[in-house]
Amino acid sequence: VKRPRTIGKCPLCLEEGKLLAHSHIIPEFNYEELYDEKHRLRTFEGDGTVEDPKWMQKGIREYLLCGAREGIREGCEGKLSVWESHAANLLGVGKIDPLKVPQNKILEIPIQYKEFKLYGMSLIWRLAVTSQRNLAIGSLGKTQETLRQAIEAENPLEPEMFPFYIRAFLAPDGNFYSDWMSSPFWHDFYGKRAVSMAIGGLTYTFVARTPDVPEEIRLAMPQMQGGLRIPVAPISTWPEYDDFYRKQVLATKIHAAKRKA
Ligand SMILES: [Zn+2]
Repeated sequence: VKRPRTIGKCPLCLEEGKLLAHSHIIPEFNYEELYDEKHRLRTFEGDGTVEDPKWMQKGIREYLLCGAREGIREGCEGKLSVWESHAANLLGVGKIDPLKVPQNKILEIPIQYKEFKLYGMSLIWRLAVTSQRNLAIGSLGKTQETLRQAIEAENPLEPEMFPFYIRAFLAPDGNFYSDWMSSPFWHDFYGKRAVSMAIGGLTYTFVARTPDVPEEIRLAMPQMQGGLRIPVAPISTWPEYDDFYRKQVLATKIHAAKRKA
C-alpha cells in the first residue's frame, strides 16, 4: 500500500523541502489495546462529553517528520522509531503487569538510559509541535529549542534535564487496564509547570527540569544506572485522574466493549 506523503520543513532537523512521513504523535504501539474489533479507536476529549464519544480509524497522525520509506528507517522518523522500539519492548501490550508488584508497590523495568530517555523526550517534544487539537500542548518556551537540539543530536542529557515520571494506576475495581488514554494537560508539579497524559494505562508527567521532589519520585525518573521504577497506586491517589477515569473511561464502558470483542 502506497502511503500519501507531502513535502515541507521537518520540525526536528529543520531541513526544508523534505518528504514528510505520516507520523504518529503518540507511537503506534501505545494504541494496540485501544482498537476495537473493527480496528476503530475510541478517543476522549479531556473534558468531553460521555454521550458523544468520537471514533477514529487510526491513532492521531500528521505529516510531521522527514523520512520513513516503507519498511526503511531513515531521517528523523527513523531516528525516533529506534527509541520507540525500545519502549515498545518494555511497555507494549502485555509487557507489564502492575498487579504482580512486590510489597513496595514499585514495578521495575530494565531500560537503556539513552534510548528510553530519548523516547520520553521525543514524546513531550511531539506534543509541543503537533497541531492536532486533542494532543497539542502549545510551545514549551525557550526550553523547546534545547529539547529539539538534544533529540536531533541523540543526546539524552543528564537525568535532571527533561525528566519524566511514569505511574501505573489501578482502577477502582483494583485492576490495571492498559486500554485508555487521555489528552495531555498542564498542571503544577512540586512548584513547576508540568504536562501529564495517560498512555496505555500509565500516566506520564513531563517537566523541563527535575523540581525539588521527594527522593522516591526523583529515583522514579529515568536514571543512568538501574531499572526504571514505576510506582503502582490506586487511581484515587490522583484526584484529577480519578475524576477523568470515572467520567470518561468507566462511564463509556470501554473495558466492557473490549471484553465483548
Ligand atoms: Zn528531519
